[in-house]
Amino acid sequence: MRILLVEDEDELARSISRELARSGFVADSASSLDDARRALKETPYAMVVLDRRLPDGDGIELTPEIRRMRPGVQVLVLTACGRTEEIVAGLDAGADDYLTKPFDFDELLARIRAALRRHGGDPLPAIVVGGVSFDPKIRDVAVHGRSVILHGRELMLLEALLRHAERMVSRQALLDEIYGPDEDVQPSALNILVMRLRRRLEELDAGVKIHAARGVGYMIAAARA
Ligand code: CA
Repeated sequence: MRILLVEDEDELARSISRELARSGFVADSASSLDDARRALKETPYAMVVLDRRLPDGDGIELTPEIRRMRPGVQVLVLTACGRTEEIVAGLDAGADDYLTKPFDFDELLARIRAALRRHGGDPLPAIVVGGVSFDPKIRDVAVHGRSVILHGRELMLLEALLRHAERMVSRQALLDEIYGPDEDVQPSALNILVMRLRRRLEELDAGVKIHAARGVGYMIAAARA
């Protein structure tokens, strides 16, 4: 699951992205309403963290558009505009949550987790392949019933493969899912990431195999005994 962070203060955007990455999320940054629109068109985000004072307008103007483009997406407004009437206006415009600056990272992360639990609202069944099970609601990976911790992008890769288990997922689809539209990605980055995930799954004796079709993509399937 990717998060779009719409924030025009570079330093703040970077530190939020870093904190999100530490918690296993990957965030793309947009620094204006226009940037955000472009990113939303390209990528199915689970959540948008939205600043209000942006160089080309008020972030909450974007909320109805976000709703139209991506009906299931969660919108958290994160802003210095903290007067009650501003908060009310933000929530009335369709935001799911509102947090005022200065804020505490732990609180932001807790609210993001809570929002993602509500995400979509429909019960998402766990995906089970071989000895691996993935709970999409809380993004928890377990191997033979035991939770394992995977780093941000490894988790995203595994998640993307498991969502299409036993089917080939194209390199492009994986790159789109794992890396943001603005990230400068070396073609070898995906190969290296796959190699790391394979090694990890092997160490865990997870009973799954990641098959490669050269130049086309990857597929995860239960390993044959
Ligand atoms: Ca701002």
